[in-house]
Amino acid sequence: MRRLLINAVLWAVFSSCIGCTVAAQVNDAMITEDELEAHVAFLTSSKTKGRYPGTAGNRRVVKYIRAEYENYGLKSFDGDFLQKFQAKLRTSGDEASGKEVKTWNVVGYVEGNNNYLKGEYVVIGAHYDHLGHGGPSSKKPGSKEVHPGADDNASGVAALMEIAEKVARNRYMLDRSVIFVAFGAEEQGLLGSKYFVDHLPVDKDKVKLMINMDMVGRLNAEKQIYMGGAGTFPRGVELMRDLGVEMGLNPVVHAGEVGGSDHVSFYRAGISAVGLHTGGHDEYHRPEDTLDLLNISGERTIAEYIYKVLLRVVNKNYELTFINQD
Ligand SMILES: [Zn+2]
Repeated sequence: MRRLLINAVLWAVFSSCIGCTVAAQVNDAMITEDELEAHVAFLTSSKTKGRYPGTAGNRRVVKYIRAEYENYGLKSFDGDFLQKFQAKLRTSGDEASGKEVKTWNVVGYVEGNNNYLKGEYVVIGAHYDHLGHGGPSSKKPGSKEVHPGADDNASGVAALMEIAEKVARNRYMLDRSVIFVAFGAEEQGLLGSKYFVDHLPVDKDKVKLMINMDMVGRLNAEKQIYMGGAGTFPRGVELMRDLGVEMGLNPVVHAGEVGGSDHVSFYRAGISAVGLHTGGHDEYHRPEDTLDLLNISGERTIAEYIYKVLLRVVNKNYELTFINQD
């Protein structure tokens, strides 16, 4: 009797410990408001000073993202998460006649489990660079203040990190593989994504879809999440709309209208591409684009939504082909 009791107690202790480990792991893999906010806080801090290509702040961000990828257990192509390239900086308006600086895309992946499909890839990306102290793309001309770019696009990078963490923890659910890219020098003319598409780590015809997040931190009261390019892959418009509604969002889905951010570089190369954002605002490209104005809980919902979309499109039952929307 006594022995039975001891066994029972031991079993209770043992099983509750299994319980705590499992709970801790599940917790770790969650997309949380705290983590989203911590990422944005770092990306907009005085350590990074607007993340302008060629500066120490830009390099710090690159190292931060690489360390996150390593933490999540992402794999790198050719043993290196960093894809270096030269960026020609804008001097006025759209003109890129300024000096050339060294900067990077940060690239990692999670391998799928289906022997036939793990050689196919869905890319998810967000640009990490911003305007530094202003410059020609600032909406506050002449300002020398740091432009922190909390919405543009610390928000997208924070979502990218959280989704990467969750995908890596749930990798057994993937048939196709997922590539994560934090693009450099988007504000200088989509330079990082152009370089990535011109120097893909895998065959171009194996890249089946690109999902881009640029400014996803300001979900409004109507919960509108806007997207272009949803018609560039089969059943894309329905998928993006239905899963959004399921999450309590109000998706504003365009089949075409791909223009705008890094996903355009993929679309121009004949790769299906959808770009998401939560809309424009008065603080766009101004020093006032700060963390306190973000809707972090809204962003968490968006990150969960994109995670759900990802799980669907990497599944073997989802056919992915390019559909031209021009
Ligand atoms: Zn942007």
